[in-house]
Amino acid sequence: MKLIFLTLLFFFIITHDCIPEKLSNKQIKFTKMVGQLIEYAYSKKYSLTFGEAYARTGHCKDSLHYKRLAIDLNLFINGKYMTKTSDHLPLGEFWESLGGTWGGRFKKADGNHYSLGE
Ligand SMILES: [Zn+2]
Repeated sequence: MKLIFLTLLFFFIITHDCIPEKLSNKQIKFTKMVGQLIEYAYSKKYSLTFGEAYARTGHCKDSLHYKRLAIDLNLFINGKYMTKTSDHLPLGEFWESLGGTWGGRFKKADGNHYSLGE
């Protein structure tokens, strides 16, 4: 009996790191990261407006927008709406430094997309 308990305890300990992070914890982390990204953008004299964040439809099949783990941000520099992926590069690199995934790296680049992957 003691051996069974110790065996189960051992497997719990070695598999514990493999348990996926709880979704709500990840959403909370993501939202805090978005706050940091916004602060960073404004420190560079950029302006932002929200595009889509949480969505129920309209994105690709496994989109992180459906899990509240993605946001699209509209970027303005000196009042001009910046639409190119390359315009978002400084923000994308900052986002990546926080541990996020930037859409500018996607095969089909999506420069205004910032997410927190699995
Ligand atoms: Zn997006």
